[in-house]
Amino acid sequence: MRSLMILKEMEDLFPNAQCALYHSNAFELVVAVVLSAQTTDEAVNKITPHLFERFPDPETMMQADVNNIANCIKTIGLYHNKAKMLKGLSTSLVQNFHSEVPSSKKHLMSLDGVGRKTANVVQSVWFDIPAFAVDTHVERVSKRLGLAKFNDTVETVEIKLKRKLPRDTWNDAHHTFIFFGRYHCKARNPQCDECPLKTICKKDKFDAYKKNLTGIKPN
Ligand code: SF4
Repeated sequence: MRSLMILKEMEDLFPNAQCALYHSNAFELVVAVVLSAQTTDEAVNKITPHLFERFPDPETMMQADVNNIANCIKTIGLYHNKAKMLKGLSTSLVQNFHSEVPSSKKHLMSLDGVGRKTANVVQSVWFDIPAFAVDTHVERVSKRLGLAKFNDTVETVEIKLKRKLPRDTWNDAHHTFIFFGRYHCKARNPQCDECPLKTICKKDKFDAYKKNLTGIKPN
């Protein structure tokens, strides 16, 4: 099966891929994933130890002045909005879920700042429920390697990956795809010369497709 062969090659390059966001409980994980939107895990890991010390649980975060939350996360982008989301998310956890992070996708996605990708990460990383979160790395890698069509939406990419890979591989495969995309098949300057998947890669066609679509240089 071609998709399993692709996964195996990625696993050989990154055998220890795992969640890179610092967390020690489900609340910290969901907060860290919300904060990671449009910024790097490294940037999030620099602010969360202090944030979690100040606001260790949903009750404390719910009662906090939003400016105090913002002050703790001001080194990352969109921090004002993210501070509001964290307060709203915490309020919902306290009022609707007895201060516990729920495990169902529907309930997770009812929380402020939590979309499909974040819900999938929390389900797979914390609850060990098979899920496949598709972030920018997973999407790019999947399209370059022909596991999804160039014009597929993020949700369609997720559906296709779940159809093409066995359910018991999804949680680890998600991390493997991310590491492969983050450190090898990067958006700019991917390491194609030493890539074991070079012969099946559709990067050139994907780049041409994106260039046609936008008229600007692809990234
Ligand atoms: S050949 Fe290059 S673009 Fe294609 S999968 Fe490998 S690193 Fe990525």
